Amino acid sequence: MSPSALELAGAVRSGERTARDVVEGSLRAIAEGDQAIHAFLEVLADRALADAARVDAAVAAGSDPGPLAGVPVALKDNLCTRGVPTTCSSRILAGWRPPYDATVVERLRAAGAVVVGKTNMDEFAMGSSTENSCSGPSRNPHDHGRVPGGSSGGSAAAVAAGFVPVALGSDTGGSIRQPAAFCGVVGMKPTYGLVSRYGLVAFASSLDQIGPFGATVADAAAVFEVIAGHDARDSTSLRGPAPDVLASVSQGVAGKRIGLVSELLDGVDHEVAARVREAAEAMTAAGASVEEVSIPQFRYGLAAYYLIAPAEASSNLARFDGVRYGLRVEAPDVAAMNVATRTAGFGAEVKRRIMLGTYALSAGYYDAYYARAQRVRTLVSDGFAYAYAKFDALLGATTPTTAFALGEHTEDPLSMYLSDTCTVPASLAGHPAISVPFGTDRAGLPVGVQAMAPALGEATLFALAGALERAAPGQAGGER
Ligand code: GLN
Repeated sequence: MSPSALELAGAVRSGERTARDVVEGSLRAIAEGDQAIHAFLEVLADRALADAARVDAAVAAGSDPGPLAGVPVALKDNLCTRGVPTTCSSRILAGWRPPYDATVVERLRAAGAVVVGKTNMDEFAMGSSTENSCSGPSRNPHDHGRVPGGSSGGSAAAVAAGFVPVALGSDTGGSIRQPAAFCGVVGMKPTYGLVSRYGLVAFASSLDQIGPFGATVADAAAVFEVIAGHDARDSTSLRGPAPDVLASVSQGVAGKRIGLVSELLDGVDHEVAARVREAAEAMTAAGASVEEVSIPQFRYGLAAYYLIAPAEASSNLARFDGVRYGLRVEAPDVAAMNVATRTAGFGAEVKRRIMLGTYALSAGYYDAYYARAQRVRTLVSDGFAYAYAKFDALLGATTPTTAFALGEHTEDPLSMYLSDTCTVPASLAGHPAISVPFGTDRAGLPVGVQAMAPALGEATLFALAGALERAAPGQAGGER
């Protein structure tokens, strides 16, 4: 196994390895392996080497190079990078170079991390397979005939392939956790408001969160600590200190009360459900008390999500009009130019969401669809509140299946939407959640177990995630 981000940062900080050496290793792995995976839309070799040189200079000067010194990191291409193309895998953003860095990008660089590239995604983060990308799909490193999941599929695949130890993605309804599960890596969605969304191209603003991918739980925790915390430039950013989580990873779950959610087991592929039950048993063995709990409201989460998210998207994506960003298709007048640009610039799924969302928000339908979905959203939160009165954390599947084949769901959007059924509840409630690899199915494809905790319960979440990681089949000290 390649060294973890924390190991690399330790080696760079102590002068044992240079950041240049570490970053060159990452760039070499990408050059050799990404032809087959297509995790990256853009590799920023020159910029990365210049940043690595700055880290090495800091080490040489005896100043603190930061907790992630020299750690190569990949960014989902909906995170703004100053002067570097940020396309959201959409033709409509072709040629656009943001004039500023997202807050998370600033914070990563200030912590010594080195951005090596921008990763492939479903267009505007709408999708679950990375197949809705204008530059073609990414492939699952475990089986190139299968999808890496989505929408942050490029970031998940980049970590799974060993190109980078950590990456950032965004999660609106599961887009970090689902690809993490499919690719056999750790992926975490923070509490809504804990990580600044300044510089994240908006999809559904009441749901969007940025979060880390890592090969290990501790690496995801380390990146979370760097990117979390108040930012005055995001009006939804929470005040107060972000929770410390790195120390929680090794804390264990003795005495914790964990609910195993029936709705995140029933209807899930039997091999996935079997791994989740094994994970629950392992937590009992680790000293937690685990009990099954039914949260019936979860069954309505997906339907509510697929009204709320498109409604917000239809509003957020109105800004792509051929005037302010990227693509412009010339036409005789401004209105015709707007139409021609949007017609040529957006892919089929994005157009479908804009139409669904516009319909759900239109006069006469608003109450029947959008307002009703908002009430269901409250019911889902009530379901969590009921469960958290009894449990410290919850456990379930991250996805109903393991990674599916390329093309398997592209003709049937509804079947694609169903792959988000286990992840949307935590999104609707704004709670933190994490997917941790836990064994494989018969075909050897990774299975992800999802842990959830109440809002701002990141310390509990990472304690549970750490325990799951230690208990996972194939781990030192784990089963098998
Ligand atoms: N797959 C879900 C969707 O298509 C979630 C996307 C996301 O979290 N960005 O909307």
